[in-house]
Amino acid sequence: MHRGKKRTPNDPCSFLSELEKSFELTREHLEEIILEFHHEMKRGLSGKESSLKMLPAFIDRACGKEEGKFMALDLGGTNFRVLQVDLSGDGKARKEHEEKYVIPKAIMHGTGVKLFDFIAQSIKQFIIYNNIGLENKINLGFTFSFPMKQSNISTGILINWTKGFTAKGVIGADVAKLLTTALKKHRLGNIEVAALANDTVGTLAAKSYEDHDCDMGIIFGTGTNACYREKISNIKKLKSSSEKGYMLINTEWGNFNKIRMTKYDVILDEATNNPGEQRMEKMISGMYLGEIARLILEEMIEDKCLFAKGKAKFSKGDFKTEHMSLIESDDSDKLLKIAEYLEGIGISDTSFEEREILKRVCGIVSKRAARISAAAISAIVTWMDPHLEHKHTIAIDGMLYEKYPHFRQLVAATLKEIHKDASEKINLTRAKDGSGIGVAVVAAVAALYRQ
Ligand code: ADP
Ligand code: MG
Repeated sequence: MHRGKKRTPNDPCSFLSELEKSFELTREHLEEIILEFHHEMKRGLSGKESSLKMLPAFIDRACGKEEGKFMALDLGGTNFRVLQVDLSGDGKARKEHEEKYVIPKAIMHGTGVKLFDFIAQSIKQFIIYNNIGLENKINLGFTFSFPMKQSNISTGILINWTKGFTAKGVIGADVAKLLTTALKKHRLGNIEVAALANDTVGTLAAKSYEDHDCDMGIIFGTGTNACYREKISNIKKLKSSSEKGYMLINTEWGNFNKIRMTKYDVILDEATNNPGEQRMEKMISGMYLGEIARLILEEMIEDKCLFAKGKAKFSKGDFKTEHMSLIESDDSDKLLKIAEYLEGIGISDTSFEEREILKRVCGIVSKRAARISAAAISAIVTWMDPHLEHKHTIAIDGMLYEKYPHFRQLVAATLKEIHKDASEKINLTRAKDGSGIGVAVVAAVAALYRQ
């Protein structure tokens, strides 16, 4: 790490080359990550201490024949959403209604009771606004994108909050029960919580509804996580592990902690409300990438390697992953989009070299994110299929994957670097709205199971 070494001041070149080194993940590093991943997966599946929780979802993927109308809730992303989804039974899912609700900060950090009251009130608004009758029972699928321990498809105990949530009194409680209580309190007793699932499970379920090769679901959004399809006989921690068949496993891979950290990762981690946790998520996802880049830029400014002329400052929270996207998307000769962005935040008269540095810093941070993502994907796919003999459709949801320039291409290129031609068996596809449509599919799969 470069703080310890003597570096010529004002020398962006040596700063950047040291930075690049500390963020670099060679092919060997990637192979090590994959091995460690397998090790942690195995431990997690056996119920041993592991950074991968490997949470059984008590549901398998869809077969495509599921049908009916379902209400869906999506909690754990940027917005809280309520949806009504219609499944036609032929692999087609349609959103009939969708409303977004912003969860006030005070509610995110208040009490669980208040949080679930807010959810029930939002559902009530949704029902009134969309003229949904309450005479008949409504089956609800609840996407709850936090680590939870399930013992069946319709209950789940919150293990810990992530992504900035801290509402008190929820950890250790069954979130389906908290929701049911709040629904009853708001005279919405006709709504039954039929299924509770993580957004990765929803993403896999939604894709598998139309594509039967889908056996993995991933989120690259505010946070990151993945689920995949596991043989029940491999889930040693389950009482039913002697059974035949498959079950989806929510890996909670955001918490994987066997990747070497730079000093920026350490600083970032210490300032979060869950230090020591979600280490991989903090290197990959939308909530954190901007902050990593900002810490680097601040140091460069302090060292007079960047914007030495003016009074540039990037305060905590000011530099977001969306800004990195914008900067990296500037392919103009003179980097004028970047100049415009900098003007907008009060940094004017920048040189081309300075704008190039900014772009390079973003590139270093996002490249590492994409390469870690590819290693993690490779680890899960080779766990399911060591010699890549079968096709694997990977359903991916999240704005980071969708919007970040070159992210997708870098993930694909890294998979190719690791697996050569066999990487063609790994089909990365975008899943539209796994956390909305997906959980309706999960609720429908659960309904089919019950029959
Ligand atoms: P979630 O459902 O987890 O909130 P989304 O898929 O809605 O995830 O993604 C939202 C997150 O994606 C934001 O928190 C932000 O970090 C990131 N994001 C949004 N827009 C962009 C963009 N243009 N480029 C990169 N990241 C983005
Ligand atoms: Mg989402």
